[in-house]
Amino acid sequence: MELTHQCLACGNALVGRSDKKFCDAYCKSSYHYKKSIDGQRGSFYNVVNNQLKKNRRILSYFNKAGKAVIRSSTMLERGFNPKFFTHYWRNGKGDIYFFVYEYGFLKRKEHGVEKYILIKWQDYMKL
Ligand SMILES: [Zn+2]
Repeated sequence: MELTHQCLACGNALVGRSDKKFCDAYCKSSYHYKKSIDGQRGSFYNVVNNQLKKNRRILSYFNKAGKAVIRSSTMLERGFNPKFFTHYWRNGKGDIYFFVYEYGFLKRKEHGVEKYILIKWQDYMKL
């Protein structure tokens, strides 16, 4: 009696030995290609990269003028994660701004509301 099972790539029924997993070499290679892409997506490097990109997008959205003050909750709701940044800069007063590429942010409490002061990287800021 022959066992019927499915190709892992396309789902077509396979007839024959139960250890056969794919219709043909094409299905086999497309399955492994997709698996490697999925693996990359979930890798630590990509998780960090994607969050940095998202943070930068959110910072640039709220900081079109080069300087802005935004409620931190507004940014967090959009997926901003302050733990992910590329570098920091300390101003003359000792405040430490965290940067995501050219966009900087500093957490500040004003009248009991947590806000982010947003700035943009300037040439005089030295790394
Ligand atoms: Zn197949």
